[in-house]
Amino acid sequence: MQCGTCGHTEVRGATTTVEEWHAGKLYVVRDVPVERCPNCGEEYFAPAVMDALERLLDHPTNAEPVTAFALEYA
Ligand SMILES: [Zn+2]
Repeated sequence: MQCGTCGHTEVRGATTTVEEWHAGKLYVVRDVPVERCPNCGEEYFAPAVMDALERLLDHPTNAEPVTAFALEYA
């Protein structure tokens, strides 16, 4: 697969952490499979992965709380 941002031709399989607001809460999903460009860092999610993420966020079973800190810019 070729990177659509920089044209690098060796986009590789990797895992990433997705942070997604859903129904007023922030969910952190670890170890999500992704294709990542080693040159510019752009990440590409397969449609099946997007669908699975949506299902997971609709039914977030086994979610454990993480510590987060909310700050105001000024
Ligand atoms: Zn790239």
